[in-house]
Amino acid sequence: MPTLPRSDAPEAVSTAQQEISGLAELHAVRTAISNFPSLEPQLAQWQIELAAIPAPPFGEAARADWLHARFRELGLADCHIDDVGNVFGLRRGVSKKIVALSAHIDTVFPAGTPLNVRQQGNRLYGPGVSDNGAGVTALLAVASALQAADLPLAMPLLFIGNVGEEGEGDLRGMRHIFSTPQWADAICYSLVLDGAGSDTVVAEALGSRRFEVIVRGPGGHSWSDFGAPNPILVLARTIHAFTQTRVPVSPKTTFNVGVIRGGTSVNSIPESASMRVDIRSTSMAEMERLEASLRRELDLAVAEEVRASQQRNPPQRRSSGLNHEVVVIGSRPAGELPPKARMLSVIRAVDLYLGNAAQIQRASTDANIPLSLGREAIAIGGGGTGGGAHTLQEWFDCGGRELGLKRILLTILALAGIAE
Ligand SMILES: [Zn+2]
Repeated sequence: MPTLPRSDAPEAVSTAQQEISGLAELHAVRTAISNFPSLEPQLAQWQIELAAIPAPPFGEAARADWLHARFRELGLADCHIDDVGNVFGLRRGVSKKIVALSAHIDTVFPAGTPLNVRQQGNRLYGPGVSDNGAGVTALLAVASALQAADLPLAMPLLFIGNVGEEGEGDLRGMRHIFSTPQWADAICYSLVLDGAGSDTVVAEALGSRRFEVIVRGPGGHSWSDFGAPNPILVLARTIHAFTQTRVPVSPKTTFNVGVIRGGTSVNSIPESASMRVDIRSTSMAEMERLEASLRRELDLAVAEEVRASQQRNPPQRRSSGLNHEVVVIGSRPAGELPPKARMLSVIRAVDLYLGNAAQIQRASTDANIPLSLGREAIAIGGGGTGGGAHTLQEWFDCGGRELGLKRILLTILALAGIAE
C-alpha cells in the first residue's frame, strides 16, 4: 500500500503523544483498559451470537434488534433504530459536537447461506465472523469498558451499528446518517471499525462504480430459431473486449465481472442475460475511462451479434430485437482526510504509545461518506486477526484483540476528551 503524500506534522504528533500518555495514566482509563482481558469470554459469546444471525444486504433487521438490546444492556442512552435500520446508542457528554464510533452490521452473504458459526480454542469460524463480527464486537467492548469505568466524556460518543456497507448496500446506512441534519451537523469525527486487525489506518476513500448490464432478445428454440440473436453471446463478446482495456498500476485501477446470469435451458436461446461489473480506482478519471470502455464494448458487441445472427440464418433476416441497458447499482465517492487532520495525529500518537506498527491505506469503507463530505474519518480494525473475509471459510482469532481495543479506546477518548 502506498504511503500517502501529506505533510507530516511531527509537532502535532508529539503534542498528541503527550496527550495520549497523560490520558492512559488516568485511573479511570487504566480501569477501562484493565477490563478488556476478563471481558474476552463475553466478547467471543457476543461475536458468536451476532454472526449466527443472518444479515444479508437489505436484510439486517434481526441483527439490528439484537444489537439494540445489547446497547440498552450496556447503559447507552437514546437507543433506537432509524428508518433504514441503523442502530444508535449514546454515551452522553457535555458538548454539542459528537464523536461517532461505527461498525457495519451487514454481511455479503445472501439469505439462506448456512452460517454454522463455531468456536475452536481462540478461533471463531463462520461467514461474517470477522467482517464485521470483529468490528461490532469491538463496539460493544468499548461501550462495556466505558460503562465499567464510568468516564465522563466532553463530547458525546455515538455508537452506531449501520446497515448497507457491503456490495449493493452501497453505503446506504452511512449515507442516511450523513443526510440526517441531527447527525450530519453534529458528528465531527467518525471512527469506523471494520474487520479484524490493528495494523492499518484507512485514511483515503477508494471510489468505486458498479453496474448491472442487462441484454434482452427475442429468445427461441435452439434448433428451430437458430440465428436469433443471443444475449449470452453479447455478454461474452463484451467481457472479452472490455477485459482487454488497459489499466494503470498507479493510480491503481481494477475491474471485475462478479456475477453472470441468463438463460433457462440448454436448448433455449435465452431471452435475457445480465452481468455485474465492479470498477475501482483512487482516480475518478480512471473510473470514468473504464466505464466509457464498458459502454462502448457493449454497444459494439450488440452490433456484432446482430450481424452474426444474420449470418447464422440469412434467409430469415429476422429483425434483431436485441436491447440492452446499463444500470448503475453502486457509486461510492472517493475522498481523503484533510491535511493536518486531528484524527491522523491522534491515531499515530496512539500507535506510538502502544508500540503498534500500522500502515496508512486506501480502501472503500463507511468512511468514504464522511470523507467525501470533507469530514474527518478513518477506518481501523477491531483487533485480533482474521482471514477468509467474504468466504464461507472466514475466521477470527482473538489473540491480540486487547491491543486493538486499547487502540480504539484511547483514540476515542482523545477525540472526545474527558470532561472536567
Ligand atoms: Zn466490512
